[in-house]
Amino acid sequence: MIIHLEDNITQNEKDVLLNKLKELQIKTNLVSTQFMDYIIGMPKTDFDIRTIGNLRGIADIHRVSDAYKLVSKKWKVNDTLIDLGDDVTIGGSELAIMAGPCSIEGEEQIENTVQHLLKNNIKIMRGGVYKPRSSPYAFRGMGMDGLKLFYKHCSENGIKVITEVMQVSQVEEMVDYVDIFQVGARNSQNFNLLDILGKVDKPIMIKRGMSGTIEELLASAEYVFSNGNEKILLCERGIRTYESAYRNTLDLNAIPILKEKSHLPVIVDPSHGIGLRQHVATMALAGVMCGADGVIVEVHENPEKAFSDGQQTLYYRQAEKLYQKLKTTEELMKEF
Ligand code: PEP
Ligand code: MN
Repeated sequence: MIIHLEDNITQNEKDVLLNKLKELQIKTNLVSTQFMDYIIGMPKTDFDIRTIGNLRGIADIHRVSDAYKLVSKKWKVNDTLIDLGDDVTIGGSELAIMAGPCSIEGEEQIENTVQHLLKNNIKIMRGGVYKPRSSPYAFRGMGMDGLKLFYKHCSENGIKVITEVMQVSQVEEMVDYVDIFQVGARNSQNFNLLDILGKVDKPIMIKRGMSGTIEELLASAEYVFSNGNEKILLCERGIRTYESAYRNTLDLNAIPILKEKSHLPVIVDPSHGIGLRQHVATMALAGVMCGADGVIVEVHENPEKAFSDGQQTLYYRQAEKLYQKLKTTEELMKEF
């Protein structure tokens, strides 16, 4: 049960309400986000909602039977719009495109990518400075020095930055240099990290865990929301299956299912989703046809020389073709 509190509820009204819920043996959690205050009630047994419905300070009450509550579409039927400022939004009628290298490699590469994005009117650049790598000997990212350069060049050019945060201790130093925090697949259930990201006022894109279920992804989003941050994006990036012909299995099914279950925007990552450059564009278009609100894709001036994930990274000319096709697909989807 979600009790949505009125903006001007007094402390006394709140106490009366909490006492009544206690009397009814309903376990409660108070949630205050950047937008609203809620009480999440967990009734042990079915109860008549009218017993509390007439108390003061309540704007709305919704029964939500799902394990996740605040991210459920059962109480919020309108899709969430993420506003990044400067007219850049995600989740509205316009398809969001985020493009850039797997890893930030240096100033020249950042400038080069920014030019590519400007040329194609793309407003969000991706790039990792803290890289989760299977081998400790692989390139693990430029860290804060890279992030500062990344943010400087992007903000000077009106481009928003999305980058991965790997651990709790990085959040504070990174927060002023990111527009969207990315939680990677390997950290999808790092609940301490999700708790902290619930306390910042920046959008959080949570990737699905490599063997994570849809319900687990939604529960991870619930961690962020219930800690106070409503600005969340969900990302399908492929799951690990028995198939070895490609890196991961992009679970296209997840897109309409997530859209049905949650009001949060859904982003598709075809780069990690299939892991093969020659098929990334196809899977990106498929993701949009399935209802994704945005695409995150790896591009590089010279993918063969990329420090990470070169095999799934598009050349600029391939990416440009894809952006055109995404536009056409976006138009087509408006007919549905
Ligand atoms: C990435 O975006 O480069 C990345 C490491 O993604 P994932 O967490 O999905 O593997
Ligand atoms: Mn990558």
